[in-house]
Amino acid sequence: MKYAIVIPDGCADEPQESLGGRTPLQAARTPHLDALARTGCVGRSNNVPSSLTPASDVATLSLFGYDPLECYTGRAPLEAAARGIRLGPQDWAIRCNFVSIEDGLMRDFTAGHISSEEARELIGKLAPVLGREGIEFYSGVGYRNLLIWRSADGGPFHAETRTQPPHDIPDQPIADYLPRGPGADLLVTLMHRSRDVLAEHPVNKARRQRGQRPATQIWLWGLGQAPRLEPFASRYGFKGVILTGVDLVRGVGALLGWEVLDVPGVTDYLDNDYAAQGQAAVEALREADLVCVHVEAPDEASHEGRLDAKIAALEAIDEHIVGPLRKQMPSYGEWRILVSPDHPTPVRTRAHAHGFVPWVIAGSGVASGGFFAYDEVQAAGSCHCFDPGWQLMARFLDRDFLFSAVGES
Ligand SMILES: [Zn+2]
Repeated sequence: MKYAIVIPDGCADEPQESLGGRTPLQAARTPHLDALARTGCVGRSNNVPSSLTPASDVATLSLFGYDPLECYTGRAPLEAAARGIRLGPQDWAIRCNFVSIEDGLMRDFTAGHISSEEARELIGKLAPVLGREGIEFYSGVGYRNLLIWRSADGGPFHAETRTQPPHDIPDQPIADYLPRGPGADLLVTLMHRSRDVLAEHPVNKARRQRGQRPATQIWLWGLGQAPRLEPFASRYGFKGVILTGVDLVRGVGALLGWEVLDVPGVTDYLDNDYAAQGQAAVEALREADLVCVHVEAPDEASHEGRLDAKIAALEAIDEHIVGPLRKQMPSYGEWRILVSPDHPTPVRTRAHAHGFVPWVIAGSGVASGGFFAYDEVQAAGSCHCFDPGWQLMARFLDRDFLFSAVGES
């Protein structure tokens, strides 16, 4: 059996007035997804426990069959794994965004989608000023950079240290969302000091001249120590490959022991090369048991409040990723596909949300459940409901399981 998992990040949404009460998934033209729904099974799952912040780190762990309440230690350690940065057992990894603050408000958690080259220059300037023994800055992809805090005794932070994901406070006053708890003052000091270092930097001057948002400061969040995850192959018995433009998701894959495939043109934004990603996934399945294709674009469209961009992203995923997989996989023998977002990201709030996401499973051994489309409404009416969501993976992989014959609670 060959398995494919397609993750349209954040695609789950609400009915839209401007779409005549339909959700973006319902409004998008997705013939391949709907064909999977007609021949297979649609359901819903809850990937984010209420005690954790809804984001791709927690939600993809669930989607891949791991209980985040047991294994999640924070977002940054997963990204460090993606970058090949080794964390000692007492060290802390901390996400270091470049952000644009105006009048004390979080105007842009991406600093105007600052490029990786620009970010590298800014990190190069910050490191010698703010870094010291045991504090290391690492540039990453665009606005997503890392700070590693080496520690001999597990301090100065603690599991109780609370930080705020900047993408969930659009246009909010940052003073209300600064780090709290053990070691928080150290993080706040670094964030404040970064303002002076960045203010007159040539990269920011040039951005202002081009009419782009400057990176006014760093925003530190998502800290955590290295998680211990049982490899996917030993837990579920299959070797995986993952294709994604997002460091965080790469890191989850790497920690599960999956091969992380770099595909030119695959990005974490709306300019993603869907066709290249889809073709690479089809090719990778010749060798691998399981291929996971993660596409960030629908989530980014939601963060920007762009309904049309979200629909366009969903249609591109259907045409260039789900379509080729659906056509090619049967030629490899037995096959099964799962399409599911990690978490909802409503266009209305422009932020990640808790709640159910719709999934569709089709392929060998999956009987038709009488569904006619892949969307939130079909999923809500289905008897297939996984809460907690991490239990879905074992079912998906179970070759003997006749999916629609059993109603889960
Ligand atoms: Zn997001």
